[in-house]
Amino acid sequence: MMTIEINGDQARALAALVAALRPDWDAPGVLAALRDGRTKGTADQLAHAAINAAMDPANRTPAVIALDGSHWASVRPVETRGAKFDRCTRPGHEQWPAWHCAGCRADARAADSPRETTPEPVDVGPGPELARTALHAALTHQEKP
Ligand SMILES: [Zn+2]
Repeated sequence: MMTIEINGDQARALAALVAALRPDWDAPGVLAALRDGRTKGTADQLAHAAINAAMDPANRTPAVIALDGSHWASVRPVETRGAKFDRCTRPGHEQWPAWHCAGCRADARAADSPRETTPEPVDVGPGPELARTALHAALTHQEKP
């Protein structure tokens, strides 16, 4: 079983095959997508995913090959926990596979829509001040003999 990233010769041959399977996709476009997706899996896994993507008429361009999607689903087992696989190298992401890291996706979403970490002060009206005054008055009253 191949365990390494696709090389140039393999990518060109695969691009030609995929373009032959999908005449509306040109080989240079497929090759560019294979280059973009080359770290998502091993050479054989990328080949399976590329062919899967090409066989789905809903995929309009080969760029989809490099994206997450159903074309990868049959290539990778859904449950990879405990298995030996390449893991994301970012601190705290080690439980996720390198090619499909939920932590990185969450980080990207968080970066797209940052949340305020300190909430804006909320005007609650005179309630707290009235309570302080009443409490002070009550305590002051009790202290009188
Ligand atoms: Zn990650």
